[in-house]
Amino acid sequence: MTDFFELAQPGITELSPYQPGKPIEELERELGISDIIKLASNENPLGPSPLVTRRLAEEMDELARYPDGSAYLLKHKLQEKLGIDPQRLTIGNGSNDVLELLARVFLSPGAASVVSEHSFVVYPLVTRALGADLVTVPAKNYGQDLEATLAAITPKTRLVFIANPNNPTGTWVGRAELVAFLEQVPASVIVVLDEAYFEYVEEPDYPNGLSLIDQYDNLVVTRTFSKAYGLAGLRIGYAVSHPQIADLMNRVRQPFNVNAMSLAAALVALDDDEYLQRAIALNTQGMKFLTEALDQMGIGYIPSVGNFVTIDFGRDAMPIYQALLREGVIVRPIGVYNMPNHLRVTVGTPGENARFIDSLQKVLAAGG
Ligand SMILES: *Cc1c(COP(=O)(O)O)cnc(C)c1O
Repeated sequence: MTDFFELAQPGITELSPYQPGKPIEELERELGISDIIKLASNENPLGPSPLVTRRLAEEMDELARYPDGSAYLLKHKLQEKLGIDPQRLTIGNGSNDVLELLARVFLSPGAASVVSEHSFVVYPLVTRALGADLVTVPAKNYGQDLEATLAAITPKTRLVFIANPNNPTGTWVGRAELVAFLEQVPASVIVVLDEAYFEYVEEPDYPNGLSLIDQYDNLVVTRTFSKAYGLAGLRIGYAVSHPQIADLMNRVRQPFNVNAMSLAAALVALDDDEYLQRAIALNTQGMKFLTEALDQMGIGYIPSVGNFVTIDFGRDAMPIYQALLREGVIVRPIGVYNMPNHLRVTVGTPGENARFIDSLQKVLAAGG
């Protein structure tokens, strides 16, 4: 029998398939219970904006046609909203797609990317898939150590990934620190600043990557509609970069990588400021509730500026995860991030947050 693994590119056999949060339907089937809540994938608890659902109903009539592969309208809407030249934009099937496009443009066997310990799993995935080397820098207080990141750059380095804030830790880098880093990074090394949670962050010192894009040609900022805009199921995100980098990414991009429903939805989502403000306010309030409850329970967590908080149980968290599942509460174990004692919990609606805390109290009282 042919061993197809032996035929595969070596980097690919080293990969493990991405483990998504457990779907509600799956737990329903397993436990035979309903009324399950999922706080496992950093999704927006508000659901999509009503403007989006209305627009999508209209768009249905157009589904026999290919989408606009150049994303003309969305690029011009982003220009209007963010002041970004459309030539700097690459639209992706989720921001994960643009991360992969960057890898395909710049990585190959012999090249390397630099990531932080505990950083988003997609960076190692896209790196190894291209047969490139992955250099992992030890974290500092669970966050990215930019000095160590700088020291890890070698002549082989093509990409450096910085999630700001990072998932699953919720940690972030401040403006001064980021600028000092960008000043020292060789101009031939591309710095990918993943701002998937940008809209949620309220820290005054949190840098807006787009404000640095003119100064640093090697800086690429990625954003998504999956989180604060509530469109994770549609898969749409984008990169802002030097026009030459965008040109290269658009060469490897599939001509119709973003579907018509997603393009239509993103266009109206950008105009629904009321929805965005509601989503942000709900998150701020929910984060306060969760962290105060954890404080009262004497349970540690990593301070987070995203729409999730990562709780430190100081012991194997899997039994607690399993016990929460039996309560109908799905959160995220993060053993794959080398954090077996932690669980990541997405901020939900006030009802979901209260239910999580009640269930956690019950589970821990029972010995979890
Ligand atoms: C959720 C998330 C994304 C978004 O991915 P999409 O493909 O846009 O859904 C990107 N980066 C990080 C760090 C994330 O947590």
